[in-house]
Amino acid sequence: MKKFKIVTYGCQINVYESERFREAFLSSGFEEVENEEDADIVLLNSCAVRGKSVLKLFSKLGYIRKLFRTQGHPAAIVTGCVATVKEKDIKRIGGKSVIDVFSGIEPLSSRIEKIKKILSLKEKQNALMERKVFAYVPIIYGCNNFCTYCIVPITKGRERSRTKEEILSEVKMLVKNGTKEIVLLGQNINHYGRDIGYKNGFIEILEAVDKIEGLKRLRYLTPHPADFTVEILQRMRNLKTLCPHFHLPVQSGSNKILKLMKRGYTREEYLALIENVKRLFPEASITTDIIVGFPYETENDYLETKSLVEYVQFDKIFAAAYSPRPNTAASVMPNQVETQEKKRRLNDLLSLANAISVKKNSSYIGKTVEVLIETVKKGEVFGRIPQDKLVITKKDASVGDIIEVTITDADAFHLRGE
Ligand code: SAH
Ligand code: SF4
Repeated sequence: MKKFKIVTYGCQINVYESERFREAFLSSGFEEVENEEDADIVLLNSCAVRGKSVLKLFSKLGYIRKLFRTQGHPAAIVTGCVATVKEKDIKRIGGKSVIDVFSGIEPLSSRIEKIKKILSLKEKQNALMERKVFAYVPIIYGCNNFCTYCIVPITKGRERSRTKEEILSEVKMLVKNGTKEIVLLGQNINHYGRDIGYKNGFIEILEAVDKIEGLKRLRYLTPHPADFTVEILQRMRNLKTLCPHFHLPVQSGSNKILKLMKRGYTREEYLALIENVKRLFPEASITTDIIVGFPYETENDYLETKSLVEYVQFDKIFAAAYSPRPNTAASVMPNQVETQEKKRRLNDLLSLANAISVKKNSSYIGKTVEVLIETVKKGEVFGRIPQDKLVITKKDASVGDIIEVTITDADAFHLRGE
């Protein structure tokens, strides 16, 4: 049997797409392998959000080209955000190993069709579709925001919502096949439905999915703080499956920087949203994304970010040093911050945030929590609580079970319990 491997970089949309590509390979009679060395064909689903992820793709392509030269396989298909903007470089670096490059803007269904054509085997039934504990379901593709640092609107194009009917039938199918948790996806998920004439699309799709029989947990990524109203929060309180976790990317604590980023909210507005979340959902976890070292960021601006992190007490932050992306407004701003300085700010912020995570996670010690099991390995089971924290415990349980665990230990990244 022919063998394939898929390598995925970047966001949950890519993870979702890769799952669909994987089904296309399996239904075409291909077998999945661990290492690219053993594969006949490797699909690279790329990410352009940071320079580092582009470099990772290019170094992987260089390696595949070398394998292709010395052992005659694997061939590579490249898609995702880098494929949208750097087709020439991909072909140059991958050489003869690259058999096709599909832009990340091209509709998923047409890319799947092309892959199937390449694999040129008759489609078999979906019998190979695996049961999954949780599944990503994109509801809106692309982004209209053009935050000045961000390449996503360029690589993924403008906002395109899927219809409510299409989403609901996909979720129903997944839940029927055993999926317990659904994560709805969009780059700015609060804009869901605007392009197809829905008025309160985001909260209404949450309400509709929440009603689906058999669903245990509902999540969504990524909301935009500027579009998150109190009315939405209030309506969210009535949903029985919605998890008490808010990922609210702040990016910076300095009003000057937020304006330069074109984020559309101030520090004060962001903090007012956080107050409302804490008031209406006292048990919720709150996480964020932060960029340090954006052009013009002074030590004082950075300290404002730090004080915001300290003030909000995030359960977890995803922080990155600013990385200039081609064709974005920020990349041509003067006053870029030195690499060394960006690194210093990043490390400084992460050590504060980790200490807060330890404190937050330790507050679970002694509590009994509900864990949805995702993985079972060597006598240990791994799963998540509704607040999206990872729990590790020794227990005889299977993937998909929801079990009660009393937390006995915690660090910055997980909880342990029995
Ligand atoms: N649509 C989401 C996610 C966008 S990309 C949002 O609006 O938050 C995910 C994260 O990558 C961003 O939140 C940001 O923190 C980070 N990111 C995006 N572009 C970046 C850049 N040029 N340099 C560093 N980090 C970046
Ligand atoms: Fe990028 Fe901003 Fe759109 Fe998020 S909202 S994808 S950060 S442009």
